[in-house]
Amino acid sequence: MEKLLVLTHVDESGEALTKASLEAVAAGMEMAGAVEASVTIGIVGARTETAAQQVAGTAGRVLAVAGEAFAEARYASDAAACEALCRAAAATLVFAPASSRFDRVLPGVAYRLGGFSDTHVTAVAKGETVEATRWFYRQRVEAVLRRATRPWFLLLEAGTRAPWAGSGNAVKVETVAVELPALRTKVTGVRAPRQGEQTIRPDAKILFVAGAGWTKKQADGKVHAAEAESLILNFLHVADASLGSSKSLVDQSGENQAVLGFLTHLNQIGQTGATPRHPKGLSTCCHGEEPHVVGWRFITERRAVSLDPNCGWARGKADVLYVADAFKVMAKVNALLADRKQASN
Ligand SMILES: Cc1cc2nc3c(=O)[nH]c(=O)nc-3n(C[C@H](O)[C@H](O)[C@H](O)COP(=O)(O)OP(=O)(O)OC[C@H]3O[C@@H](n4cnc5c(N)ncnc54)[C@H](O)[C@@H]3O)c2cc1C
Repeated sequence: MEKLLVLTHVDESGEALTKASLEAVAAGMEMAGAVEASVTIGIVGARTETAAQQVAGTAGRVLAVAGEAFAEARYASDAAACEALCRAAAATLVFAPASSRFDRVLPGVAYRLGGFSDTHVTAVAKGETVEATRWFYRQRVEAVLRRATRPWFLLLEAGTRAPWAGSGNAVKVETVAVELPALRTKVTGVRAPRQGEQTIRPDAKILFVAGAGWTKKQADGKVHAAEAESLILNFLHVADASLGSSKSLVDQSGENQAVLGFLTHLNQIGQTGATPRHPKGLSTCCHGEEPHVVGWRFITERRAVSLDPNCGWARGKADVLYVADAFKVMAKVNALLADRKQASN
């Protein structure tokens, strides 16, 4: 019988589990039912009491590695914590969120335990045996993997299932002791790629994509970069949207041209960019070429605003194309959304 361990970690608050961790818990519970495995939850964090309550209802053991050394992501302490949890649970299958914290640690832990790890897993199911699905080659090839090697570590992509919403009695937590190696790395702070505006929001309901058209000369022969910035930021605020970009637009930022200052290559969607998951997407001032649209694979409903009735979006790439001036459309949309927000307050 498989022994399934779901590894989780706390978020920046230091107390609550990340949403991706709770998604891994939900995946673990589903799989445990399918293969009749026992489930253990492992938690890593400075304080783990609140986190443990979030996994109420999972019925199996709840193990925790706690203490100040585990407050921050650091390879040596996180690898030691995960290794200790795997050994304590005698795990044969390990599910974990594909977070930056665990992505860099778990392949090493798998090596220590003589196991195997697979990353970017988007689905797990029971076929003949446990099967993991992931995409290769920029989401062009989908593979279903089976492995005889145990323990098998599966790093599950965030946003691919509903998070565990447990309820029930107080959870009894078993603390697992960890022998820490000498810690040479001290976390002194976080340096984010962008200061100020947070524009990439993986959990947003809508993705707003800005294309190079926002910084091109408009009908009056002039560039309106400042107006473009304000229209885009306004929309992100009123719609709580995540901001994506075409490659052309972020490349301009790198070349110090008249651009939108809040964009970096992290915003780029497409073949050489990201493939985010949002229920809806709105593309503006973007041509909708294949290398860009391939990054929209997991956007369920696609709409675009472009002046060009022959753009890529018009050729079957969007569900709805508005052939219109995005400056005018977004000014109107922002006004309507602001009214609606005010009415609901
Ligand atoms: C190997 C390779 C990999 C690539 N990878 C990526 C990738 O990952 N992501 C990516 O995005 N691209 C990628 N590209 C580039 C891609 O092919 C396109 O060049 C790029 O997406 C074009 O960006 P754009 O549509 O914003 O700009 P443009 O092609 O310049 O289009 C601008 C659009 O804005 C419209 N417009 C202008 N003003 C307005 C207005 N007021 N209202 C409405 N519409 C307006 C214009 O009609 C035009 O359609 C890649 C290319 C190659 C060769």
